[in-house]
Amino acid sequence: MSQMKRIAVGGIHTECSTYNPVLIRAEDFHVVRGDELTAYDYFSFLPEDDVQILPLLHARAVPGGPVDRPAYEGFKADLLARLKAALPLDGVYLAMHGAMHVDGMWDAEGDWISAVREVIGPDVPISVSYDLHGNVSQRIIDQIDMFAAYRTAPHIDVRETMERAWNMLLRCLRTGERPFVTWAKIPVLMPGERSSTEDAPADALYAALPGHDTRPGIWSADQMVGYVWADEPRGTACAVVTATDRSEAEAVATELAQAYWDVRADFAFGPVTGPLDEMLDIAAKTETAPLILAESGDNPTGGGVGDNGLVLDALIQRDWQDALIAGITDAPAVDAAFAAGEGAELELTVGGALDPKSIRVAAPFKVLTLVEGAGGAFRQAVVRTGGITVVLAARRRPYHNIEDFTLLGLDPKTVSLLVVKSGYLSPELAPIANPNLMALTEGVVNQDIPKLESLNRTPGLYPWDPEARFTPTPLRSARAPG
Ligand SMILES: [Zn+2]
Repeated sequence: MSQMKRIAVGGIHTECSTYNPVLIRAEDFHVVRGDELTAYDYFSFLPEDDVQILPLLHARAVPGGPVDRPAYEGFKADLLARLKAALPLDGVYLAMHGAMHVDGMWDAEGDWISAVREVIGPDVPISVSYDLHGNVSQRIIDQIDMFAAYRTAPHIDVRETMERAWNMLLRCLRTGERPFVTWAKIPVLMPGERSSTEDAPADALYAALPGHDTRPGIWSADQMVGYVWADEPRGTACAVVTATDRSEAEAVATELAQAYWDVRADFAFGPVTGPLDEMLDIAAKTETAPLILAESGDNPTGGGVGDNGLVLDALIQRDWQDALIAGITDAPAVDAAFAAGEGAELELTVGGALDPKSIRVAAPFKVLTLVEGAGGAFRQAVVRTGGITVVLAARRRPYHNIEDFTLLGLDPKTVSLLVVKSGYLSPELAPIANPNLMALTEGVVNQDIPKLESLNRTPGLYPWDPEARFTPTPLRSARAPG
């Protein structure tokens, strides 16, 4: 580039179940501002010697309920103030998830991205990266120029996707080419657990995307599953294509949408899946270990609450020996364990600390291990009742990485039954599962999709409307050339 191009970087990244009653608050976000953003490992691919990075704000939270409105407005105001101070700009890169729901607002990402567009004006290109479980809208498409989404679920291409969005922006600024986005809605919504890219039919759909990228005039061909646990009008699967060739972009969007629609009835759960009792019956007869049982209705990484004592209750009733439950979010129980101290025995009530619908379990526990966290908010307690060890967390969080266990002195490989609040297993747990079962349980990310209350969804969506008909229609961005 002849002169240093000025590129602003920011974004907001979370996933919100509208069925989850627990709002995500400002303090639940990990926020980086200014130089913290460029120093953050998440963005370590950014530095380029021929561009000037103007870091704004990036806020990221474990999925949950809707985002508290004042928290959202606060982050947005901070971002926009930094954006105004960074002008003039040559480009903007926004690292998004796409399934945020702000309390009392439809299409939160549409609001966020439109606010950025308003500040920078019509001439500055915007590139965005998304989770494939994000929801898209015409309002979003009308503000952006480039779009890249994860192509794996479980997500093992986060960095690659961010780089794809970033590199498209660099290409645009270096060559002067001006890409635009074309999309096609697909009236299908399903949980990530039925659309893992490790299982058919999603594996083949996603494996085909790089081939589309290389077609003439195509920069990126992306397939969105969408987010099913938000009862909002924009929710739908879709194909999103970044291109400089209009007819090729429309052809790719149409083909992707048709291919996804054609296999809508074939999406199925990967592991053996069924009601909790049925899964525990199988677990009782299984001799290989560790058997990893995913409690899918309360999965915090899907937007679940994470406080349900349901499986603990079932295991106590069966007098289960050698099980580890990781974990249950319950700040009062954690505080009680800390007050009692390591080695103490006490009566605890576990579960239902956040959602009154979650199962509460009262039992005698022994406190095994206490781990302090920053400011008390991240405290954890490992407790045991009978043959069942339970990790209690003061704050909503998953236990999906091996390190989450080793930090507590636990080894997930040596227990016979490991229960995690999860849908499909994480990239670190999946390889050690021997075998993996998934329990279909109650909760705000319940897998029984046709039964989800749907007051605001667009009619004609599969599976709510099994007779729905569909002809793909490519839709243009308002920013595409005439
Ligand atoms: Zn996702």
